[in-house]
Amino acid sequence: MKKKGVLIVISGFSGVGKGTVVKKLVEKYDYRLSVSATTRAPRPGEIDGKDYHFKTVEEFENLIDYNGFIEWAQYVENYYGTPRKFVEEELEQGHNVILEIEVQGAMHIKEQYPDAVLIFITAPNALTLKERLEGRGTEDIKVIRKRLKRAYEETDDMSHYDYLVVNDDLDACVDEVHAVIQAENFKTSKNKDYITNIKEELAQIRKEI
Ligand code: ADP
Ligand code: 5GP
Repeated sequence: MKKKGVLIVISGFSGVGKGTVVKKLVEKYDYRLSVSATTRAPRPGEIDGKDYHFKTVEEFENLIDYNGFIEWAQYVENYYGTPRKFVEEELEQGHNVILEIEVQGAMHIKEQYPDAVLIFITAPNALTLKERLEGRGTEDIKVIRKRLKRAYEETDDMSHYDYLVVNDDLDACVDEVHAVIQAENFKTSKNKDYITNIKEELAQIRKEI
C-alpha cells in the first residue's frame, strides 16, 4: 500500500514572512502547495489561481454550502478557505501538502487530521514584525493595526502548534522548516507498517534456523 503524504500546516503572524518562506520551500523541495480561496482583493502582482482563487462573498458561501473546503475562516473581515479536492487527492498520491493558513483554520485541520504537522513561524521580536508588515507596503495603517491586534490574539494559540520556527535569516528558516517536516517521517507512529513487516520477517526467520 502506498504511504499517504504528510499534511503540513504553516501559520504565523501577518507580515512575519511565511508567504516568502513557503514560496522558497516549494521552489527548493518537493512539496505541493494548496492554493486557498479568498474574498479579499488581489494585491498588486497577485495572480488568480496561483496566489489565491479570488472569489466573491456569494461564490465563497456557495462553496461552504457544497462542502468544498476542508476548513475555512474569517480573518480581518475576509473569508479564506482550503479547497478540499486538491488536498485529498495529493495526500492520497503520497505527496506532502503544505497549507499556509491562519490559526482558526489550523485548529480545524488538527481536529480532522490528527497526524498533520503544525508549524508556527514567528519573528525575532515584535518590532521586526511591525517593520516587515509596514515595509511590505500592501496595507494601509488601519489594516496594519487590525493585523497587529490579531497577531496579539494569535499568541494564545501558539502553544497548540507542534513546532515554533523563528524567521530571522530567510534561508536558515526555510531549511529549518524542511528539517522539521523531514523529522516527522522518522516518527514511530508514521512507520507502523515497517514495524508490522519486520515482526513478520523475524517470525519467519526464527522458524528457518
Ligand atoms: P506573510 O506572508 O507572513 O504575511 P510576507 O511573506 O509577505 O509575510 O513577508 C512580509 C515582508 O517581510 C515582505 O516584504 C518580505 O520580503 C519580508 N521578509 C520575509 N522574510 C524576511 C526575512 N527573513 N528577513 C527580512 N525580511 C523578510
Ligand atoms: P493574506 O491576506 O495576508 O494573504 O492572508 C491573511 C491570513 O489568512 C494569513 O494568516 C494566511 O495564512 C491566512 N490564510 C490564507 N489562506 C487561508 C485558508 O485557506 N484558510 C485559512 N483559515 N486561512 C488562510
